[in-house]
Order: sequence, then structure tokens, then C-alpha cells
Amino acid sequence: MFIPLVDSLRCVAGHEDTWLVASIERVDERDIREGFLGCPICFAEYPIRDGVAYFGADSAEAMASAMPERVTEDDAVRVAAGLDLTDPRMVGLLFGSSGAFAPAIRGFSPAHLLLVNPPAGMASGDGVSIVRTATVAPVARGSMDAAALDSGASPEMLDSLAAAVRGGGRIIGPVDLAVPRETADLTRDGRSWVAERGLDASAPLVSLRRAR
Ligand SMILES: [Zn+2]
Repeated sequence: MFIPLVDSLRCVAGHEDTWLVASIERVDERDIREGFLGCPICFAEYPIRDGVAYFGADSAEAMASAMPERVTEDDAVRVAAGLDLTDPRMVGLLFGSSGAFAPAIRGFSPAHLLLVNPPAGMASGDGVSIVRTATVAPVARGSMDAAALDSGASPEMLDSLAAAVRGGGRIIGPVDLAVPRETADLTRDGRSWVAERGLDASAPLVSLRRAR
């Protein structure tokens, strides 16, 4: 888990939005290898083991997505172009099987990548961070520059992934998946679509949260 990315992570307990406090046991470069992320509101503790942060997911295998049928350089270029990750300050979220493209994308994109429930065997470090979660994406609203979705997610997970993308950020997904709300279709072909998050889409939902 890349230390600057901890600011973008959130507790999955569904209370008022708050940052998490990292307690670091072992760090490699700027990557937390072993430690905990603690929630100051509900005191939940999320372990980081071998660089991977676990949000309510007991075992890596339980939260792993299937590998895509093929992982080619062309497919990786296609995902990276859709996400438009051209700046080293950018962070792109890759959900599920799309996380398999991370090593190839890192070969030509300077952006950091956050993998949510990637296939088993993906390694964190070198510009790639990994979280595994049993419920929703533990990511702050509007904190990601782009996201790649896949079909194997619950509606709640998809909502949390879309909400994580800032206004004007790109979201890509397969054609069998609906484009998220508050997100405008830019282009599509027989396999996937590319859409753009509405500029107002990621404003904090303060009133809704208080009413709950
Ligand atoms: Zn909490």
C-alpha cells in the first residue's frame, strides 16, 4: 500500500466519512508492507499483509476475481487509453479482473494504480497498491482520476466504484455492464464503453448521510 494513497482510503462501516490512521510495522520504499489501518470513528482495524490491505476480507482467495481470458499488451494499451492516465500524479482504480492489466499498464503509464479485488497472485509495490474488500470499495468519493469496472460486482460495489471517481474522470466498463448514474457515455464498441463522470457527481452527499 503506497503511503500517499492511504489518504484516499475510507472505512467500509458506512458511518460519517473519515480518513484512516496508518500504523506501520514494515515499509519498503514508500510502500507499507505490514501494518494496520485504523478507523478513528468505529475503531475497526484493517490489516495490511504483504502490502495488501484487507477490508473485512478474511482470505485473499475469497475476494479474488478471475483472471481475464487473455492479458495482452494490446488489451492493456486499450484500458490505459480509455482511462487517459497520462500524469504521474494521477491514480487509476482497476476493479476485479481488470487489475490483471496493472503490470503492463505500469510499463507505459506513470500513474499510480489502485487494484480493488484483483485476481489472485497480483503483487503490490512499484506503483501498484491492492485492497481486498468484502462489501464496497474502501475509497473516498472523488479521490480517483479514473476507474475500470468489470461485470462481477454487486450494485453496491459498482456505486462505490463510480463515486470514487472525480468529476470529469474517465470510467470504462464491458458492454454487458450499464454505464453508472451521473456518468455520460463518450464512446463504445463491441466490447466496452468509455464514459466520463459528471462534474457534480462526486460532491459529498452530506445531507443524505445525516438523514440516515
Ligand atoms: Zn469506521
